[in-house]
Amino acid sequence: MHVTSKLPQVGTTIFTVMSGLAQAHGAINLSQGFPNFDPSERLQRLVFEHMRRGANQYSPMPGLLRLRERIAEKMERLYGRALDPETEITITAGGTQAIFCVIAAFVHPGDEVILIEPCYDSYRPSVETVGGVAVPFALSAPTYRIDWEALKRRITQRTRMICINTPNNPTGTLLREEDMLSLSRILKDTDILVMSDEVYEHIIFDGEQHASVLRYDDLYERSLCVYSFGKTYHNTGWKTGYCIAPPELMREFRKVHQFNVFSANHPIQAALADFMADPSEYAGLAEFYQQKRDRFQQAMAYTRFKPIPCKGTYFQLYDYSAISDEPDLDFCKRLTVEYGVAAIPVSSFFSHKQDDKIIRFCFAKTDDLLEQASERLSKVKV
Ligand code: GLN
Repeated sequence: MHVTSKLPQVGTTIFTVMSGLAQAHGAINLSQGFPNFDPSERLQRLVFEHMRRGANQYSPMPGLLRLRERIAEKMERLYGRALDPETEITITAGGTQAIFCVIAAFVHPGDEVILIEPCYDSYRPSVETVGGVAVPFALSAPTYRIDWEALKRRITQRTRMICINTPNNPTGTLLREEDMLSLSRILKDTDILVMSDEVYEHIIFDGEQHASVLRYDDLYERSLCVYSFGKTYHNTGWKTGYCIAPPELMREFRKVHQFNVFSANHPIQAALADFMADPSEYAGLAEFYQQKRDRFQQAMAYTRFKPIPCKGTYFQLYDYSAISDEPDLDFCKRLTVEYGVAAIPVSSFFSHKQDDKIIRFCFAKTDDLLEQASERLSKVKV
């Protein structure tokens, strides 16, 4: 059989590779982003109760209306936008599935999609699967600031979409009001859509505000925003998220979503609808993770790794150029095998594998594990 790959450059995602290596070597896994603690007992019980009460068949295609109503309330409270839960919100099987459907629903063969890199590793393959052309716009360490005028020069007649992500995985940087206004300005009078990945919306530090696209009328009208329950309620394995967009865009999104997964997990949606009725369940998340960031940074101060400022997400970047000039993937593999700590090489988030000798650690871990990892990393030799 001869198969012509749609994704000839793609191997297995770095998250699977590094978690696999961590497991094989019994290493502390700070690579793939997920907590090593469980979601709330009450939330777990609610899922089981809804199973017992019969929420075991398909949910409605766009998701349980009850859950979409809770989301609409939350978004209005936080970002001041009144959403129609019937027409502007769809529950998805996690953030990655929502991102894929956003891209598949709007990107035609030959259309260009601007990716601000480093970015999450699913964006580019999603674009390429549907015949689009990824146009990378690479940012530089350590600030990863976006020069919007330079970005504007990447826009062509074929540009269909631009993907943004705040708080940013992997950099931990934020887009701020001036970024959103610049974005809005360069897209004015175009038909370019925005895929706004906001899955870490609640994990923002040092008193900063989340610059959600939902806050800006002229951006929202061209945007599809992606969210995740996994990051908020410590249940990444439940694979539940949602997409928000104006009705005309959401109609197109659902055309793809319905034939991609049809609908998301029903008992989990029912449980989340009950759970979300109490906003305090996510209110303390920023402080919770800020403490972990600080604790991890303090423990890492005894190593030769140099931190890159982190303002959000549960990822912390470290520069290892004082330790080694190995390529970042090799360095991560060696850290895992020889020192028992797994991380993610940041070159994996660049199309052209830009290697700045920077690696990403996930600090969504219990304090004892973070301290144990730092202790091991303090032994890393030049
Ligand atoms: N978003 C998570 C990360 O960046 C992992 C998602 C995945 O493994 N697909 O680590």
